[in-house]
Amino acid sequence: MKLIFEKSVSGRQGFKLPESDVAVQTKIADKYLRQADATLPEVSELDVVRHFTQLSQMNFSVDANLYPLGSCTMKYNPKYTEKVAAMPGFCDLHPLLPQLKGGERYVQGALEVLYDSERWLSEITGMKAFTMQPLAGAHGELTGIMLMAAYHKAKGNKKKYIIIPDSAHGTNPASAAVAGYQIISVASDKKGGMDIEKLKAVLTDEVAGLMMTCPDTHGVFNSQVSEIAKLIHSVDGIMYYDGANLNATMGRCRPGDIGFDVVHVNLHKTFGTPHGGGGPGSGPVGVGEKLERFLPISRIVKRNDGMLVLDYNYPDSIGYIASFYGNFGIILRAYAYMILLGSDGLKATSDHAVLNANYVAARLKKYYQLAFDRICMHECLFSALKQTERGVHAIDIAKYLIDQRIHPPTVYFPLTVKEAIMIEPTETESKETMDVFIEAMVEADALSRSNPELFHDLPKTMPISRPDETRAAREMNVNFFALKA
Ligand SMILES: *Cc1c(COP(=O)(O)O)cnc(C)c1O
Repeated sequence: MKLIFEKSVSGRQGFKLPESDVAVQTKIADKYLRQADATLPEVSELDVVRHFTQLSQMNFSVDANLYPLGSCTMKYNPKYTEKVAAMPGFCDLHPLLPQLKGGERYVQGALEVLYDSERWLSEITGMKAFTMQPLAGAHGELTGIMLMAAYHKAKGNKKKYIIIPDSAHGTNPASAAVAGYQIISVASDKKGGMDIEKLKAVLTDEVAGLMMTCPDTHGVFNSQVSEIAKLIHSVDGIMYYDGANLNATMGRCRPGDIGFDVVHVNLHKTFGTPHGGGGPGSGPVGVGEKLERFLPISRIVKRNDGMLVLDYNYPDSIGYIASFYGNFGIILRAYAYMILLGSDGLKATSDHAVLNANYVAARLKKYYQLAFDRICMHECLFSALKQTERGVHAIDIAKYLIDQRIHPPTVYFPLTVKEAIMIEPTETESKETMDVFIEAMVEADALSRSNPELFHDLPKTMPISRPDETRAAREMNVNFFALKA
């Protein structure tokens, strides 16, 4: 054990600390060390390679084909950003280093990544300051609502409710409830946006704030958002921007300019970082002036001598929200992504995301019913009601696509639309790839007329076909060999 440790440290370049700076000599107590060798399966290298290769080939990823999941922004993650995140100068850093006496000078590069990312995201969203700590979008929401609660507490406001449109992502009401608020749901109008008259009807002095996704999960940008912000501010409420759909507006419209006080962005959606398996994500939170003093600690500040340091001295802070500084490897990828694209590239990203979604909408609307027949933003929302009349449901179409080696779009979400099929091609897909997807969707529609029964035992190409989805979610069994047996 000792030998391996010494070897791995000395084998890497540039990270030998001078003796004087090694403040803590770590020694693992005997009671924590393994007393006997672990029993590991004895298999040949080839068997191991084949096992993992087989598993990896069963895994669908955006590296394999289009991944048009609406509300998820499953776009291509540039390999360049992976390379940056793998640089030993970053990934060999110990997270405690900046807290050791004199340790900060060894991590100036890493602190600069965090510091610059905060500033760039502030610029992109029109916010005053950011924290990079939250570990997912939902975690960012909770952080944002805690900031909101801290603001009301500091002002002595008595607040009970958070207003959320009925089209919202499920994490919105969950985060608000975890933070101790009661939720008021407001219905959407016929065009897909929040119904402002219904909002007025529920607005009282007890409303802490409103959570809104712009554009929302209907793929619609609510043009009344500034008016909504005025209403919420009139009761000293806070406007929360769920930035999961920022991929549609980045470089074109800033939440801070249209009345929002706090935002989260999903680096794994908008900023091209990997996304899946429940993590690692990253949901940095930005705030305007009103909420800045409540931001989590630690914060990164630039001292007069130009040195970046961690500052814990914020008495009004909501405290720690994550261990250390957030998912640093993910933040690094987003940082590299922002440098790679530059401001023009980020703007082009959202332009193309919107263009691609409208292309898919325009080509498929002859076959599937559009939920809202209007120009959409980064995703288009259909309903499979016409196909359902022939006995083929949204889930059947999804299963059909799996057999065509295409990842299905999001189905049955948002809940406001029956038999919803929500397609988000993202900006990284070519017209050729989208055409293959569109043709498969057209074919599914044709088959729903000619042979609706065919759908019921699809997919045929997968090791499992139609699990009991509720049970599968509760009693997850991901042992491939057990399933095959
Ligand atoms: C994805 C998403 C979230 C949650 O983000 P996670 O990173 O998955 O926790 C919240 N709101 C919307 C609209 C989303 O699409």
